Amino acid sequence: MSIHSDDIDSPQFITLLNSIIEIARAKAFAPDELASKTRDFILSRVSHYANHLGHSPLEILTAMEKKRPVTVPDYYNSEVFPRLDLGGVFVLRDLTHYKQIVGVNGFRCPRCGEVSLLDPYQCHEWIGKRKCSWSARSFFGTFGKGLRLVIRDVFLLEPIVYDIFMPIALEPLFENGALIPGATFPE
Ligand SMILES: [Zn+2]
Repeated sequence: MSIHSDDIDSPQFITLLNSIIEIARAKAFAPDELASKTRDFILSRVSHYANHLGHSPLEILTAMEKKRPVTVPDYYNSEVFPRLDLGGVFVLRDLTHYKQIVGVNGFRCPRCGEVSLLDPYQCHEWIGKRKCSWSARSFFGTFGKGLRLVIRDVFLLEPIVYDIFMPIALEPLFENGALIPGATFPE
C-alpha cells in the first residue's frame, strides 16, 4: 500500500481542484465564500480519505468528481463524505470482508423491524396488507440505525459511503446505530 501524500501538491491535482471550484463559483450567490469553503473541504477531506484508504489524493478526487451526481456544494460536504475515524463509518478491505461481516442472516429494516434477507437497501416485507418498501436511499436513510461503511478496494469505482440496513450478524455489537463501548468491529 503506497500513499502518495505529495499528490495534493501535484499540478494534476491542483488543476482538477480548480476546475471543481470554478463549477462551484459559476452558480453561487457568494462565489468567493463558496470557493474557499469548497477548497478547504476538498483539501482536508481528500487527504483524510487518501490516508485511510491507501489511494492517492488525485485518485480519490478523480473518482469522486467522475461520479458526482449533484451540485458541487451538495456533494463535497461532511454529509456525503464524513470523517472515517470517528467511529460512525467503518472501513472494510474488500468485498470478501464485506461478505464476512454481513453474514447470511440478512438486514434489519429500520422502519418496520422485519428482516430483509437479501437486500441491504430496501425492505420487501409486509406490514398487514401494506408493503413496507422502506429504502435506505430515501431522504431519512436508515434513521441512524443502519451501518455506514466504505470498501477500500472498490472506492475508486464507487466513491460512496454506504448507509445500509444493519446486518443481523452485527446487531449484538451495536446499540442505536453506534458500536457498543468495548465492542470490536470484526476485522
Ligand atoms: Zn420494513
